[in-house]
Amino acid sequence: MSTLRFHAVKESMSRKPIEIQEIEGKRSALFGKKVFNSNALQNFMTKEAYNAIQDAVDHGKKIDRAIADQVASGMKAWAIEVGATHYTHWFQPLTGITAEKHDAFFEPVGPGKAIEKFGGSQLVQQEPDASSFPNGGIRNTFEARGYTAWDPTSPAFVMGTTLCIPTIFVAYTGEALDNKTPLLRALQSIDKSATEVAQYFDKNVKKVIATLGWEQEFFLIDSALAASRPDLTLAGRTLLGHASAKGQQLDDHYFGSIPARAMSYLRDLEMECLQLGIPIKTRHNEVAPNQFEVAPLFEEANLAVDHNSLLMDVMQKVAQRHDFKVLFHEKPFAGINGSGKHNNWSLSTNTGVNLLAPGKTPMSNLQFLTFFINTIMAVYEHADLLRASIATAGNEHRLGANEAPPAIISVFIGNQLTNVLDHLEKVSDGKLTPEEKTDLKLNIVGKIPYVLLDNTDRNRTSPFAFTGNKFEFRAVGSQANCAVPMTVLNTIVSEQLRKFKIEVDALKNKKGMKKDDAIFNVLREYIKKSKKIRFEGDGYGDAWVKEAKKRGLNNIKSAPEALKARVSKETVKLFSDHNVMNKVEIEARHEIELEEYLLRIQIEGRVLGDIATNHVIPTAIKYQNVLIENVRGLKEIFSATEYKKNAAEQLQLISEISNHISNLKSKVNAMIEERKKANVLSNTQKKASAYADHVKPYFDEIRHHSDKLEMLIDDELWPLTKYRELLFTK
Ligand code: ADP
Ligand code: MG
Repeated sequence: MSTLRFHAVKESMSRKPIEIQEIEGKRSALFGKKVFNSNALQNFMTKEAYNAIQDAVDHGKKIDRAIADQVASGMKAWAIEVGATHYTHWFQPLTGITAEKHDAFFEPVGPGKAIEKFGGSQLVQQEPDASSFPNGGIRNTFEARGYTAWDPTSPAFVMGTTLCIPTIFVAYTGEALDNKTPLLRALQSIDKSATEVAQYFDKNVKKVIATLGWEQEFFLIDSALAASRPDLTLAGRTLLGHASAKGQQLDDHYFGSIPARAMSYLRDLEMECLQLGIPIKTRHNEVAPNQFEVAPLFEEANLAVDHNSLLMDVMQKVAQRHDFKVLFHEKPFAGINGSGKHNNWSLSTNTGVNLLAPGKTPMSNLQFLTFFINTIMAVYEHADLLRASIATAGNEHRLGANEAPPAIISVFIGNQLTNVLDHLEKVSDGKLTPEEKTDLKLNIVGKIPYVLLDNTDRNRTSPFAFTGNKFEFRAVGSQANCAVPMTVLNTIVSEQLRKFKIEVDALKNKKGMKKDDAIFNVLREYIKKSKKIRFEGDGYGDAWVKEAKKRGLNNIKSAPEALKARVSKETVKLFSDHNVMNKVEIEARHEIELEEYLLRIQIEGRVLGDIATNHVIPTAIKYQNVLIENVRGLKEIFSATEYKKNAAEQLQLISEISNHISNLKSKVNAMIEERKKANVLSNTQKKASAYADHVKPYFDEIRHHSDKLEMLIDDELWPLTKYRELLFTK
């Protein structure tokens, strides 16, 4: 074993789980302790300021300056009590991760005197001097003219000694420079469209919120082992490594007992999360060794997105205490399950009704079917845009890779609802007969069970599945900022609901149809039209790829190709109509996403070339020299015939090693040539495609020869920590 590898393995094996101060039973008392939630608001704020915040949260009302000063003063008093010394505007630039710039409350006010200062102006708006955040050309980078502005709908929290204030990040010219702003706009749009449709069924509905419950998958790897691999350190995934003899084939990790060290980490993480108001509920092992999942209770979508970003940050911080590195990459290990982030999504009214849950009466079920069918229709109409919302370099390894949702967007709804839709498809054109209505009410719509059976026995291979009372968008990558897919999903459903209302109203007003008849008529057409997006079979099988092709559904595997839908004419119109993003914002994002893609592939290519040339080949030569020495010795001590017999295997090995070395070197050179060609392209779309189509294909070829060498060369010499060590050291 090479020295580095030996020490890494030794270090990781000597680790003991950290004792976590368990406050079991009192977890509810921990919940939200470090959040400026309504409890804290009431204790630290005037009634007037409290009401103003509630109004802002519930009705999007603006908070005026005098009130902002009161809020700031209450927030400061609370934060200092919880241990804060600094404050920061906390935001989500287009890099996908979170950003902070800390300022102290402390301010000198004269010789030898200082106070803790934090006023309305510091709360409401800041200029983070963010000249090097990606902006896709919206703002001249040297100008740094962007500012952050307080988002009162997501409560402030204290992390460590810093008061963090969730904010949006926009250019002075008004364009969004972050992921949160378009999301908030999309949520506003769906609130309006869904409320109008919900009022067909209940006039008391005044507001509809989108709900999101994400499930975060990840790998936990000992930090010494991770640090011993340049690819994990720089690219977040392994670029080389022969499969371990034992992988996940025994299924012995999935839902098994959590190893002690990981358990200690997860406990620690949960305590931190609870204090920060992230309602983590479940934790379990995932399919692959050292792979885990945490999931919270669902929340309002904007808050849920913030909580996921916060969680990912907290996870890395807590991991340091436990000598772990968290791998969020979608595909850290070849041949082993990747990681996703299921986005469970639904719509909920101010009257407390989940619009995607079947109800107990025919009327509430008609409401359910309306939202259910409109969502399917939205996915059908905008499948390519939905696919584009999850297109990244990391997720490209998952989508279509036989063990993950395919790159083909389809919707699974289960047996029972398929039967219901099959019936509704036959509803007569125009006014319904009284008999038909009774039949529908009593036998079809009225019979949808409150709890759906398929819910338990559901299809895990579908990228977009209905799971009883919500849709589950499963194709989202584990590194993703949920704001991106959530912005798209909420916008397309909003658009669909808007169209639905126009069509239903037209039938009512122009044709004099009753409301129910009109709704049934429009839904019938939607069911027919969107039928080909529905798929109940095995999404991982080859048969589906063929079938989807026959149906005319797209199967876009390459991320740069998929991203084209982000800037299509239809997309620009859609986002502009809903005031979610204008053309400049859309194009800027597209540019950033392509740039991020190609930079990641570029980094991977460089790291791979470096490891192959500077680690693998020299090691192979070293071992080959040992063999050559051995063969020379054999020649010396044996007769010619005996030598021939005894040296045969060694000679064979020497030539196999030579063969792999020369292939490795020539493939690396060819890859570098392709990189050079790609780098001179000035069009970002073309450049990203060149990286996808001409650079990336070399990765597997290079890996193939290195992995073969790993199996031929003395384990003592092999420099890279092996898969079995990365995955099975506990
Ligand atoms: P699974 O079997 O996939 O773990 P669960 O029922 O436990 O299914 O739910 C998974 C996630 O779905 C959780 O984060 C949960 O909070 C979320 N979820 C449940 N109901 C809703 C809803 N109405 N809207 C959004 N998310 C929801
Ligand atoms: Mg799930």
